[in-house]
Amino acid sequence: MTYALTDRDRIFTNLYGMHDRTLKVAMARGHWDGTASLLAKGRDWVVNEVKASGLRGRGGGGFPTGMKWAFMPEETDGRPAYLVVNADESEPGTCKDREIMRHDPHTLIEGCLIAGFAIGAHTGYIYIRGEYIRERETLQAAIDEAYDAGFLGQNAAKTGWGFDLYIHHGAGAYICGEETALLESLEGKKGMPRMRPPFPASAGLYGCPTTVNNVESIAVVPTILRRGAQWFSSFGRPNNAGTKIFSISGHVKHPCVVEESMSIPLTELLERHCGGVRGGWKNLKAIIPGGSSVPMLPASMCEEAIMDYDGLKELGSGLGTASLIVMDQSTDIVKAIWRLSKFYKHESCGQCTPCREGTGWMMRIMERLVTGEAELKEIDMLLDVTKQVEGHTICQLGDAAAWPIQGLVRHFRGEIEQRVKHKRRVA
Ligand code: SF4
Repeated sequence: MTYALTDRDRIFTNLYGMHDRTLKVAMARGHWDGTASLLAKGRDWVVNEVKASGLRGRGGGGFPTGMKWAFMPEETDGRPAYLVVNADESEPGTCKDREIMRHDPHTLIEGCLIAGFAIGAHTGYIYIRGEYIRERETLQAAIDEAYDAGFLGQNAAKTGWGFDLYIHHGAGAYICGEETALLESLEGKKGMPRMRPPFPASAGLYGCPTTVNNVESIAVVPTILRRGAQWFSSFGRPNNAGTKIFSISGHVKHPCVVEESMSIPLTELLERHCGGVRGGWKNLKAIIPGGSSVPMLPASMCEEAIMDYDGLKELGSGLGTASLIVMDQSTDIVKAIWRLSKFYKHESCGQCTPCREGTGWMMRIMERLVTGEAELKEIDMLLDVTKQVEGHTICQLGDAAAWPIQGLVRHFRGEIEQRVKHKRRVA
């Protein structure tokens, strides 16, 4: 097992746009190398190799990618199958897929062809976030190049498999990153999550078998197949395999996006790539380790944190999108979480009551805690509201709104109480 990645083992060789992103130069970096020979090994081989690699969904869910592909029907019942790539990337703090799309788009396009073959789909859609305008243009240019070179379309890349790939530009709603809301939006309807079952593998886009995968999950597949499942699974701990793109923002010396080994200790990740916390580790207050929807870790827990699915779960948080938001002592932590509550309230699609009403309740109580105007008993009332929302909604937006608040109360209750008491004293 390795926890430190060398350049030799980085899948994304142009994450920072230091090289040309054209097809010609991408091919010189190894993309589209022997794609036909990989697919010649058959659909089962591709799926089994991805399963053996231990790749888990990189969009936040962490579901095993190979297993997801295996849910697709082996034989068609007459309905077409679809591949849908979730490039909505709207989670606050998250900006990793964007770097792939704007600097290394051919990793994704080649991955789409391979994934399409593996799930029996001749058509793929990339649903890209509304705000990603330049990324859409870059991606479209790369798709056009791939068509011109015969890497997409009939007999794509001489694999014998026909595959068409389209981009759909979203309108900027966070909820469209939820896979079933994304499918609704792709069909031209309002982006509202669907009840499950049925799951997309049996009835997804236009009621047809569909697999929805995150950009990074698809873009790593060509390299996994070329270098072998064992190579990929040699990084990280068991059940947490592979390389991973981390996006690190906030109070570090050098915020960045970097591909590293899964299971790297949090402190090592920040020291090696970000120059550590602004003002030193003693100045750290808390870190949200997986995009805005996971509970934060206070500074005291960050030292032992391992950046993978299991490591962060053990600490009561989650890897999510592996996007770290670092907050130093200058942060008004109550206000920071209030801001997230405001975001989730704004983004709720409103179709289920606990989320529609609960996000508003949570935001308003948080608002009163920020100013200190709330009463002490409202802290427990707030926790109670989060519990009534969590797990009682159609999609995970409800949980995403509840968890940051639960993390705040768990670790900074004293600070909230002090603020309320201080307000009473001065009033
Ligand atoms: Fe809509 Fe919220 Fe219900 Fe999700 S949890 S379906 S966003 S109302």
